[in-house]
Amino acid sequence: MCAEACPASLLPQQLFWYAQAQDHERLEAHNLFDCIECGACSYVCPSNIPLVQYYRAAKGEIRHAQDEKVKADHARERFEFHKERIEQAEREKEEKRAARREAALKAKANPPAADKTDGASGSKAEAKPSSSAADIIAAAQARAAAKQASPEDQQAKLERTIAATEQRLIVAEEKLAEAIASDSDKQAVFSAAVENTRQKLQQSKTKLAELTA
Ligand code: SF4
Repeated sequence: MCAEACPASLLPQQLFWYAQAQDHERLEAHNLFDCIECGACSYVCPSNIPLVQYYRAAKGEIRHAQDEKVKADHARERFEFHKERIEQAEREKEEKRAARREAALKAKANPPAADKTDGASGSKAEAKPSSSAADIIAAAQARAAAKQASPEDQQAKLERTIAATEQRLIVAEEKLAEAIASDSDKQAVFSAAVENTRQKLQQSKTKLAELTA
C-alpha cells in the first residue's frame, strides 16, 4: 500500500528496514534522498509506522557521516602535507650538511696558499707582541724613573708636609682643649685626631731624618 501511495515511486517498506539497520549504502541505493517526506506512506500504513520520521533521521545520519568524512579527509590531507613539508625540510638540511662536510674536507685536503703565508707570518706576529710588551715595560720604567724625585725635591716635600702637619696638630690640640673645657662628648674624637696627627708628624720627621743622614 505504501509503495502504491508513494508519489516518488520509492519502496517505503525497504527504506524502513534499512533505516532501522542504519544501512546507509542501501538507503542511498534505494534513493532515500528522493523522498519528499510527504507522509503518504505513513498515512496509508495499516500498522501506523511513523515511516517519515525514520527516513528523516536516516537522512540526518547520512549527512552527518558525510560531513565527518569530509573533515577527516581534510585533516588527513593537512597531516600528509605537513609531514611532507617536514620531510622536505629535513632533506634540505641534510643536503646542506653534506655540502658543508664536503667543503670542509676539500678545504682540509687542499689548504689555500694564503694560509701557509699566514702561518709563516704568524710566527712574526707572535714575535711582535713580545717586542711590544718589552716596549711597554721600558716605557713604564721610564715613567717610574721620571716620577722618582731627586733627594732635594723629596726633602723639600717632606719639610712642607711637616710644616702643614704641625699646623694641623695645633688646630687639633686647640679643639681638644675646647672640648675638654666644655665637657663636650667629642673629646674622644678630637683626642684621636690629635694622636693621629702626631703619629703622621713623627713619621714625616723620621723620613726627613733618614733622608738627610
Ligand atoms: S514520505 Fe517518502 S517514501 Fe513515503 S510516500 Fe512520501 S515520498 Fe514516498
